[in-house]
Amino acid sequence: WGLTAEDIKALAGKYMIDTYERFDFVCVTARGMYLYDEKGDAYLDFYGGIAVNSTGNCNEKVVAAVKDQVEDVIHTFNYPYTIPQVLLAQKICETIGMDKIFFQSTGTEANEAMIKMARKFGVEKYGPHKYHIITAKNSFHGRTYGSLAATGQPDNACQKGFKPMLPGFSYADFNDLESFKSQISENTIAIMVEPVQGEGGVNPASLEFMRGLRKLCDDNGLLLLLDEIQTGWCRTGKVMAFMNYDIKPDIVSMAKAMGGGMPISAICATEEAAKAFTIGSHGTTYGGNPVCCAAALAQINQLLDKKLAQNAEGTGNYLMNKLKDLPHIKEVRGMGLLVGVEFDAPFGKAIKHGCLDRKLLVTLIGNSVIRMVPPLIATKEHCYKAYEILKEAVEEA
Ligand code: PLP
Repeated sequence: WGLTAEDIKALAGKYMIDTYERFDFVCVTARGMYLYDEKGDAYLDFYGGIAVNSTGNCNEKVVAAVKDQVEDVIHTFNYPYTIPQVLLAQKICETIGMDKIFFQSTGTEANEAMIKMARKFGVEKYGPHKYHIITAKNSFHGRTYGSLAATGQPDNACQKGFKPMLPGFSYADFNDLESFKSQISENTIAIMVEPVQGEGGVNPASLEFMRGLRKLCDDNGLLLLLDEIQTGWCRTGKVMAFMNYDIKPDIVSMAKAMGGGMPISAICATEEAAKAFTIGSHGTTYGGNPVCCAAALAQINQLLDKKLAQNAEGTGNYLMNKLKDLPHIKEVRGMGLLVGVEFDAPFGKAIKHGCLDRKLLVTLIGNSVIRMVPPLIATKEHCYKAYEILKEAVEEA
């Protein structure tokens, strides 16, 4: 392109509306566990494009699938059938044991669809009063109005200045069954949670809580909605996080890791819940785009064939145990390779920058939690390297 890193940063500063605190480098290529800048310097990837690049950056099979598909058909809208779309539908439904699927492009859109499906199901089955959804405090479900209203963080920057929110939601304490139970009213149609709160600080749901929620829903005729945008597709040691709890949701949303970096998301539903969507009741221009579906098929086949769920479990346990040796630890928590390190002081920013200076990429939640969501191809050696860098960064902070 003939531009220096300084040129690029200056152009971004001049023209872009930046809502992100950027890593201070320009990524020109990415392969496997590394991102590379224009000088060829390698950055060890422990953020995975926020839990997206699970088979490694620019996975060869995903790249090949995209190249092949763009030669045939890039976009059709959802009028004609396309081969990658129906094959992906079959693959996902059969793999995770759900009946029906609806494709979209982003996580927040999948959650919008999940909320809309639940409400329509409730209104059609019981009447117009049946729209209330209980979600968890500290949850994160996205930034469009439905999923933003479902997000239980009313004082966070993601909701600040954007009120009023969409009505019909209330927030209960995560991992507290009684708190959810106390909010059920005659208007309630669903309970919606993440199996591990990702953006909320990496908080795994307990076994009793998730099984308890399933029973609470069954006893009260409610739908259990699981947001698996971040936890889905092998991240937590099972293909879907709900499999760790031996339960099944009525509707589950997924995105991120399923597309190998291409923008694709979906909801999967039981036959009964899926009936709420009929011709004209919901739609999307790009959702289920053939290029994204071809990429997702390649990505999912790689995740399964390479047994990356098992790797996430083994490597994740190794990483979490190692991180417990760091100084200033309050708590290390997580599931598989969705790992949060909470420090006993609010110096997370200094730690994140210390890591970046040493070419390790991690993300910060709040002021004191470092989150690690590397590609699931990460080895113990990668994890040890990340631990060593993190240790130096903590000692310096
Ligand atoms: N839900 C969860 C659990 C997420 O972690 C995210 C993104 O981080 C979203 C929803 C929103 O996804 P997207 O940014 O693709 O809209």
